[in-house]
Amino acid sequence: MSKYWSPLVSQLSPYVPGEQPKLQRLVKLNTNENPFGPSPRVLDAIRAQLDEGLKLYPDPESQQLRETIAGYYGVRPGQVFVGNGSDEVLAHVFYGLFQQERPILFPDISYSFYPVYCGLYNIASEQLPLADDLSLRPEDYLRPNGGIIFPNPNAPTGRCLSLPEVEMVIRGNPDSVVVVDEAYVDFGGESAIALVDRYPNLLVTQTLSKSRSLAGLRVGFAIGHEDLIEGLNRVKNSFNSYPLDRLAQAGAIAAFEDTGWFEETRTQVIAERERVTESLQGLGFEVLPSAANFIFCQHRQQSGADLSARLREQGIIVRHFNKPRIDNYLRITIGTAGQNNELIEALAGIVAA
Ligand code: PMP
Repeated sequence: MSKYWSPLVSQLSPYVPGEQPKLQRLVKLNTNENPFGPSPRVLDAIRAQLDEGLKLYPDPESQQLRETIAGYYGVRPGQVFVGNGSDEVLAHVFYGLFQQERPILFPDISYSFYPVYCGLYNIASEQLPLADDLSLRPEDYLRPNGGIIFPNPNAPTGRCLSLPEVEMVIRGNPDSVVVVDEAYVDFGGESAIALVDRYPNLLVTQTLSKSRSLAGLRVGFAIGHEDLIEGLNRVKNSFNSYPLDRLAQAGAIAAFEDTGWFEETRTQVIAERERVTESLQGLGFEVLPSAANFIFCQHRQQSGADLSARLREQGIIVRHFNKPRIDNYLRITIGTAGQNNELIEALAGIVAA
């Protein structure tokens, strides 16, 4: 606390990201990174930028990257907004589209950055409880609101709505913006990008941090009607004209171009997810069905906090949320086959003891 802080800053409850440990040789399964790494073509593209020199500012509009993303998804470049990670895209969404008269809606168990943005921008929210099986009920979102946001697949549950269910929420709310946060969609969800030409109130956000294994490069994007994108650009150009540096723009373009790497690595993540799920079920875990690169699970006898602490003693880090309704669960990122084997062996030992 400092007397120099504004009243707003004094009241903030900032987001606390999952730990990025400095220790080597940890099995790090706590922040949903993708263990397979980016395409080698991404690294080549970044190196080429280094050779060309970094003395000049990057393209403030990220034109070539937006064209690449638009071509990939079959939309127009004017329907694409890019930012420094989808977190920054989301921040601009909250600032530019969600400051409305009515509260915005999002699930009670969901991405924990949403309430933080509400605090930063003074946005009222209603957090709608997920069903007992931690699924999202689309019909709950047919009530007056100033905007709607939910991840699909949801985080940290991994559960996914079908496209018709997502469409029901979009169609039922023509007067507010519905944001579908598809950070994990490439691991098993159906993207709502297919609907953007039919619904001017739909905005889909995605990231290169997960399925393209570029969490360190910080690139996220949104796709929606040109009017929504223009609103986001007005915010961006009032905040930072150059959110994506030259390395990020070049690397992101190469990541979209290497479709082979993308398909191969995401297929491996999905196959490993199914294998880890079956193994943990065999150890007495209840595992929610996941369409993401992580699983959400609880053990029938042992507490989530305990299991997380015991894994940590063995150098394996997973995420445990000290939050009502989910404090018995562990969220475990899918790693390489070797990392997953270490996890399964460690859990087998802990559960047997
Ligand atoms: N949305 C969800 C649901 C997430 O889990 C994350 C990752 N923490 C993000 C958005 C943000 O990802 P990034 O800023 O790396 O694009």
